[in-house]
Order: sequence, then C-alpha cells, then structure tokens
Amino acid sequence: MKQIRIVYQGKESFQKELQDFRDNYWMNDASSMLFHIYSEILEEDVVNELCGMLEQAFPEVSYIGCSTSGNLIDCQLSEEIIVVATIFEYESTKIKTFQYDLKEHTVDWITKRLTEEASENPWLKAIEMYFTIPEGSTTRFCDGLKDIRPDVQIFGGVSCSDDITSDASCVFSKTGGYSESAIIIVFYGGDDFFVDSIKITGWKPLGRKFFVTKSDGCILKELNGIPAYDIYRKYLNINNDENFFYNTLEFPLFYEHNETTILRVPVASNADGSITMSSDIEVGSTVRISYGDPKIILESIAEDSQRIREFCPDLLHIFSCAARRTFWTAKEATYELEPFRDIASSLGFFSHGEFIRTNNCLNQHNVTLVIAAMREGKVDASDNPVDAPKRKTMSKIPLVSRLAMFISATSLELEEMNRELETANQNLQSAAITDGLTGLYNRAETQARIEESLARVKEDNFSIVMLDIDNFKQVNDTYGHQEGDKVIITLANILQNEQIRSSSKFSAGRWGGEEFMLILPDTDVSAASLIAELIRQCFANTILPGIRPQTISLGVTQATVEDSIDTLCTRVDTALYKAKKTGKNKVVVL
Ligand code: GH3
Ligand code: MG
Ligand code: MG
Repeated sequence: MKQIRIVYQGKESFQKELQDFRDNYWMNDASSMLFHIYSEILEEDVVNELCGMLEQAFPEVSYIGCSTSGNLIDCQLSEEIIVVATIFEYESTKIKTFQYDLKEHTVDWITKRLTEEASENPWLKAIEMYFTIPEGSTTRFCDGLKDIRPDVQIFGGVSCSDDITSDASCVFSKTGGYSESAIIIVFYGGDDFFVDSIKITGWKPLGRKFFVTKSDGCILKELNGIPAYDIYRKYLNINNDENFFYNTLEFPLFYEHNETTILRVPVASNADGSITMSSDIEVGSTVRISYGDPKIILESIAEDSQRIREFCPDLLHIFSCAARRTFWTAKEATYELEPFRDIASSLGFFSHGEFIRTNNCLNQHNVTLVIAAMREGKVDASDNPVDAPKRKTMSKIPLVSRLAMFISATSLELEEMNRELETANQNLQSAAITDGLTGLYNRAETQARIEESLARVKEDNFSIVMLDIDNFKQVNDTYGHQEGDKVIITLANILQNEQIRSSSKFSAGRWGGEEFMLILPDTDVSAASLIAELIRQCFANTILPGIRPQTISLGVTQATVEDSIDTLCTRVDTALYKAKKTGKNKVVVL
C-alpha cells in the first residue's frame, strides 16, 4: 500500500491535480483506494466544494475527513487542507467506511451496530475512528466496543480546530456528508493487511498522589476531599478562569485505568470547584499531576518507535494531541516526530483527543501520540528495518527537568516515609493488643472484647471458653522453661488453626501464663462445648518434639443478659476448676 498526496491549493489547481492523479494512478478499481482529507478550515461550504470536486473526479471512491488543529504529511506540518489517497496493492485488502450521526442515534445504538458490523466482517483487522468533539464523556462509547474481537486494533482521534480551546469541529465522508456531530469509522482488513498501533506520551507524573474522593461520570469533583480545581491552584497557581483549559494543557492528570496509563486534560473548570474531564473518572482511582519534559519525551519516543520500525510498515497514521503541538512550539511543532520520518510515509493530524485500544480496552487519551502502522504483505528479507538514525542527545538537562526530578524524588521519599510511619503505627497498634509470645490477643484486649460482646448480648448471644494446660509446672520442671514456651506456642497455633476455626470465627486471647480465653460469637453453650472438645482432642493428639503429649482442661459457659464481665469470667473459671478437680483433660460446661 502507498499514499499519494493530491495537492490542494484552491479550486482551480485542485481540478488539475485531480486529473493528473487520475492519469497516473487510477486503476479503475474503487475498492483499492481511499481518500483522507484533513482540514484546518471548518467552513461547510469550503469542505463541501472540495468533497464535491473529489466525488466528481472519483465517483466510486470512498473518502473520509475531519477538521484538525494542523495536518501532517511525512511527519511534517503541511498545508491547511490535505488530500491523500491511500492505494491498496493487494486484492485481498478490504476497507469499509461508516458515518453515524450523534444527533440521530444514541451512543449505545452506534456501538451495538458497530459490534454487529465487526462480526459480520470477519476480515476486519483495524478500526480507525474520527469523532467530532463530544459533548460529554466518551467512556460509554469506548466501553460499548468491548465485545469486538480482541485482535482488532482500534485507534483514532477527535477532530479539532486551530483554536484548541474551542469546541468547534466537523467530520465528513462520502457516506454521510458534512457533520458537526458524528463519528466516522473505517474498517481495514483482509489476509494480506497487517496493522500495529502504539501510544506514546513521554509525560511523567509529578509529585504526590491524589485520590479521587468524589466524581460523577466525567465531572471530577474532589481530590483528597477538596474541590479538584484547588489542586491546580494550590500546586500550580492556575486560576479558575477562562484560561484554565489553556494553562492546564501542559499539566494533565496522569492515572491508571483499564490497566493502562492515561493522560487526561481537564476540559473546563466549574464554579463549584469541580473540573470536567473528557471521560469518566472513577472514585477510588489515584491521579497525579504530570508534566512534559522535552528530554524524557524524546527518549520515550526513540524507544517506543523501535517497535513500529521493526513492523516494517508501508505507511503510518498519526494522531497527535494538539497540546503536543503547543508544547513543542518553541522548538518545532513536529520535532518529536522525527524518529518516524524515515520509517514510512505518514499521514496525520493534531487532534483534540486520541483513541487506542490497549489490553483489550478502548480508551480516550489526551496529550498522547497514537501511531497506527499499516502494511500489506508479509515482511521479507528486503524489508529489514533500517536502524534508527542517531539523534543528537541534549548535553545539558534543562533546569525545569532537574526541578521536576527534585520534586518527584522528594515526594517519592515522603511517600515512602509515610508508608513506613503507617506500618510502624500499625505495628504499634497491633503490639498494644497482642501477646508477644503467641500473637494472640492479650488479656486487656480479650477483656475489652468480652465487654463489647456483653453490651450486645441481647441481640447476639455468645459463649466463652477458658482453657489451661494440665500440670504445666511439671513441663517446665522436666524440660525447662524454653520447652515450656514451645508448648504454649503450639497450643496458640491450634487456636489459630483454620480448620478448628471453620465452625466458629472465635477470637482467642492469652489470659495469663498457660491459660487462654476464647470468645465465640453467635454460639450457644452446646455448640461451644463441641468446639472446646475438638480443641481438647486436637491438643492431646499433638506430637510435641522431645516432650510427651500434654493435655488441657476447658470450662465453657454462655453469656446471659444478666452477666457482668466478673460473673461471666467467674462462671467459666469455676467450670475450668471443676474440670481440673475431676481429673483434668476434659470439658466442663456451666
Ligand atoms: P494445673 O493442671 O492445675 O493447671 O497445673 P499446673 O502445673 O499447670 O499449674 P498452674 O496452672 O498453676 O501453673 C502454671 C505454671 O506455668 C506456672 C508458671 O511457672 C508457668 N508459666 C506461666 N507462664 C509461663 C510462660 O510464659 N512460659 C513458661 N514456660 N511457663 C510459664
Ligand atoms: Mg495449668
Ligand atoms: Mg494456670
């Protein structure tokens, strides 16, 4: 496949250019050709006139187009209007174009229809999309295409105008004509058609994380519990005024969604301090302000362009955010595209949003470069990818870049310190309530839990079990204190054993020495005594290395509404005492 440009420099010359093109390239096969028209001029009559001339010269050939914030041919800015013919050289290659009017159809209808079209055309390998600037979130549209075969690549852009803060935009095609509110779709596929698509940003997160604490669809209401806009004011001194959009362009929000990192520029700031995004942003996600650093961006592009180079494409379609054009203005709008220049001929435009399907999910991005590489036929030896030309590296790192590094490093350190503090705090808290030797609750915590259970005993009945190792003094005397400790730990492990606990999620505490207390919620005395018996048997049958088997005695009782902690504990203690007095190694219920 190849692309041929038909120069448009006004009506008169275009007529001649069309004729020349027809003389040189027309093979009488409309199915092997597609025109792309990108226009910085939005006026309907200008677009219609051009399309009319194209249709007259090539009545059978499909064309699609959109308004842009700058047109790219071979990675360089081109004229205000560009017309490019793509000629497919393999008979097996198929294309199909669609246009859906957003005023006539709901997004759900369109995505359903597209999903059906995709399954009706099994040759499909890639979907290219052109959107007019959407009124609301594009999330519903993106999610609506989730059932399209996972191997189908999806990419595209939102049309734009030269004023990136304006929401004027249009798309047009042979199928549906000029529209300020529509979606255009191109299907590409066939046995000999191959495609690969990537996204590159190069933007990096800056400083600390924020949690989305309140949002409603694409309205981001609060970050860390304060109005989302305040983050931009506090950290970047960006005011909530008509320049908000322009000022935040270079500092989009960076977040993870559908397992992919997304850059999202706020579309507008609202009077209540919320900010409107172009896609939904969920409560619970974390976002960071991000920034673009020329050096890092160029490095990312150099690295990621390698995959495209190895694909050996015939041509590239480029959807690059208009904000990137603004970003590079001081240097040259297309400076960052240099690594793609020698890979293949290319066509593209500066967009208002970029689409790409990654990890099976279609997402809309901002400030992103989406590159779709297309090829007909298999790669043969002669297609060996040429090595990327060496680029001069910037010898001096810009000050802004160093400052950003400093901020990132400092906030990472702070985040790490916070994490450590939190862990230390948790450890302290858990140390305060647990027993050092066994890891079970300590006596104070066990008492507190009994008190809590007693306060609710009217609604939730519970039982307690007290247990004590039999003749433990002898263990210490015979085997030593250390071995005695091991026996205590073994018993504690039994009390934490999953199988033992499966019948009742009781909590276990060390009451003192070799004495333990269990609290069994929602358990009456007969169920509690069964569990007590199970524990008794389990301990009696446990092999203690180097020590003869030991036994425990257990007292069981159920709490009543009349009980205080004293009466309850005295009763269970009495039950245990009875077990000891009547031969030990048994369960006594009171
Ligand atoms: P009984 O069957 O009547 O319970 O007899 P016993 O020997 O177990 O008597 P008692 O419960 O009164 O004795 C508990 C002993 O446990 C006394 C103490 O030395 C020992 N002990 C208490 N805490 C620990 C400990 O943390 N480690 C070890 N190894 N021994 C402990
Ligand atoms: Mg004992
Ligand atoms: Mg004891």
